[in-house]
Order: sequence, then structure tokens, then C-alpha cells
Amino acid sequence: MKAHQLSIYNSMSRSKELFQPLHAPNVGLYVCGPTVYGDPHLGHARPAITFDILFRYLTHLGYKVRYVRNITDVGHLEHDADEGEDKIAKKARLEQLEPMEVVQYYLGRYHKAMEALGVLPPSIEPHASGHIIEQIEYIKTILDAGYAYVSDGSVYFDVPKFNADYGYGKLSGRNIDELLATTRELDGQSEKRNPADFALWKKASPEHIMHWPSPWSEGFPGWHLECSTMSEKYLGQQFDIHGGGMDLKFPHHECEIAQSVAHNHAPAVRYWMHNNMITINGTKMGKSLGNFITLEEFFNGSHPLLAQAYSPMTIRFFILQAHYRGTVDFSNEALQAAETALGRLLDSYRRLADLKASDTSTVDVSDLEARAYAALDDDLNTPVLIGVLFDAARIINAVKDHTATATQADIDTLRSLMDTFMVEILGITPQQGADQSSMQPFHDAVDLLLQIRADAKSKKDWATSDLIRDRMAAIGFTVKDTKDGAEWSVSK
Ligand code: ZN
Repeated sequence: MKAHQLSIYNSMSRSKELFQPLHAPNVGLYVCGPTVYGDPHLGHARPAITFDILFRYLTHLGYKVRYVRNITDVGHLEHDADEGEDKIAKKARLEQLEPMEVVQYYLGRYHKAMEALGVLPPSIEPHASGHIIEQIEYIKTILDAGYAYVSDGSVYFDVPKFNADYGYGKLSGRNIDELLATTRELDGQSEKRNPADFALWKKASPEHIMHWPSPWSEGFPGWHLECSTMSEKYLGQQFDIHGGGMDLKFPHHECEIAQSVAHNHAPAVRYWMHNNMITINGTKMGKSLGNFITLEEFFNGSHPLLAQAYSPMTIRFFILQAHYRGTVDFSNEALQAAETALGRLLDSYRRLADLKASDTSTVDVSDLEARAYAALDDDLNTPVLIGVLFDAARIINAVKDHTATATQADIDTLRSLMDTFMVEILGITPQQGADQSSMQPFHDAVDLLLQIRADAKSKKDWATSDLIRDRMAAIGFTVKDTKDGAEWSVSK
């Protein structure tokens, strides 16, 4: 175990807190996962990448992390409401598929996109539909404790009673009185004693295709319940970190808190972490706004708003250039800048292999590692960490270009820094996706051309060597002769 002062921002206390796990070296991490009824998009990428960094860093520090990320494959009704049609069931009905065919199809696409983005798979990926029995048992306990009531085959959580005993709305800072005053009357709400009450179990209407037997009705669990139930099943009644997007604070996480406190008489979660949202050209992403871009469209550049394709590593790097609690705005300009910066970083990483050690050093690499750890320990400050990596890249380039010298120890420090912080923790790898592996034959071919040119020069065959240089320049290559041979780059 590395002794570290890792601080994380706890959304509940609204302050940075020193991370102290309940049962070190074990850490329980739960993150709200995707609802699988459509293609994965940017909104899926940010929480997955944010908590991938946390997962990777905690693992690096020596913790044994059990990372649970659920799959919402049942009961996800229209947003923020207990009414409406389950979106998976709706897709299944429209496409004449079994609901589980819809789930399987989109889950496969989600996994593929996450792998391309360099997101490590969690330890457990439980499906809501696979935990109906546990959810029914959970509801029974809340009913026995007096914080829920049955109404016409459905079961609702009694928010005012819970609020009187424990307080409701602490995470989101919502005022319950205000909430009760402003909550709209919704269709079918007459079943509820109070508009703020939320469903733990819903009786299925005859056309509802996903339903299960329960003591109250043939029906399905409310959306919020799966996270309380599955986090307890796999991480215990109390666990370390619960993560998710900021948009889930209310009502989803607030309802999770109410459920688990009613169930266990104590809060389940010790640290709440939320990533901020993504906008596209300054506006919120939405199907109706025409700016809803799937990850696949980013990877192949097929959406009309995109000037080009962006590799999964460019998307990952771009997201990590912002702190997870800050907003990220996607635009072609910003993505192109990220692509260029990422290319520079990866170029320097490749050049590490060619560095020649000197007996004396003119570079100072002594504080790089400490600065890298300090950035991550400060609530996973990835933009500051990336700045440290660029400092290392500048040193690598200077040594490669012979404007500075480094000892073997310096070079070893630079390699260890890049391997640990860029590859292992930020998950930025030259092999990932389309970035480098598919480009390798291209690099080899250009090197071969330059080798032929060098051979021509050594035989004083100036016609051939000039022809290669001029033709390459016409295509867009910049070739620079150095005392070790030639270096090239592509000027766009
Ligand atoms: Zn959840």
C-alpha cells in the first residue's frame, strides 16, 4: 500500500475530504450505470471515464477495489416520473423484439464503445432484471419499517414521513416544503398520498410487457430501488464511494439515500462523487436539438456536426483535460486541439525509446513524480496531471533534439512517470483504438522512404534524394535532417 493523502470532493458535505476506506485495503465503489435502450453517446463516456480514473488510481495505490456498475434494464420510465412507458419495453414493442434482445444488443454496443475508450470493465455489472427477488425483499423491509404504503397494487415511498424522521433532500440541497409546493400533479398521481412520494413497486398495466409477480401485484420495481438493492448486495449496508453524473443527484440519488436509510436506519454511502455534464457547442445534448452524437459517430465522423472522425483516445484525452467537476464543451475546434496535443504527448512517449543517456544532466526531473501524485491526490485533478506530463514531454523532446542532456537515471524516471501516470492511471495508450496500432505500417513506410533517401545521399545520388524530399514535401511531410538521420512530421 502506498501511503497517500487522497482527498475527494464529497457532494454530501460539499467539501474535499481525506479518503479513508471503511475496511482498508478493500474499497467498495458503486457507480450508476447505463440504461440500455439506445446507442452509447457522450453522456455515457464521461461518468465511465471519470470513475475509471478513480478505479485505476485506487488500484494503483494498492487498494483492492470492488467496482460495481449496474445495468438498468427494467423499470426505467420517463425521466423523473413514475408514469409513462418503460423505454426498453417501448423499443422492444416498436421493433418487435423481446425486451432482453434490446438489452443484449445495446449492452454489447456499450461494452464495445467503453473498451475503445480504454475504460476498464468493473468488477461486477449486475442487471436490475436479475435482482427482482432482492428488490421485493428490500421493499418488504421498508414497508415493515413504516416508510412505504401500498396503493392499488403499487408501493410508494412515504417521503413526508421519512423527511420528518431523517430529513429528505440533503444531497441535492432541495427544500422539501418547496418541493411539495412546486411538484406538478401528474396523471395517475391520485394513488400517491403526496406528489413527492416515489414508486418502489408499480403495478403493470395490461400492455406493459416486462413484469414480475410480487406480494402486491404483477408489476415491476421503481428505478431508484435497483441501486440501493444491488449496492447493498455486493458492497454491504455501508460502503465507501457512490458515483454518478450530477444529473442523478435528484431525484435518483436522493431516493436511494431515503431507501437505504429507511431500510438500514443509517446512510449507506460515505462519499458521494458526481461528474459534471457535457455540452456540445455550448448547448445541452438532446435528441430534439439535433446535436445528439453517438460515440460511434464520433469515432467515424458521420454526424453532420462533426468536421472529421475523432479517435476514442482523443475523446478520452479531451474529457480528461477538464476536471471531472467542471463542465466540458465539445466543438470541432476543441477536439482538433485535443487531437494535436495528444499526438504530441504520444510522440514524446515514443521518442523515449530513442533517448541516449549522457554522463551529465542539464535537466531536472526530480519533482515530476511528486507533482503527478499531488495532482491526483487533489480530487483527481487530471488537467494538472496532464500539465506535468507535458513538462516531461518537453524534457524528452529537448534531450532527443540534443538541446539538453539527461543521465540514464533521468531517462528511467521519465519512462516510469509516463508509464505510470499516462498509460496505467490515465489509460492513455498508443495502442488503443485507431490511434497508433493501425498507423504503425504507415510510420514504417515513411521511415523506409527516408532510409532509401539516406542511402541515395551516401552514394551522392542527389537526384534520387532530392526527388524523395520534394515529393514528400508536396504530399505534406516536413523532413528535418539531424545528425542522427532525419525526422519527419506531417504538416496539415
Ligand atoms: Zn443508480
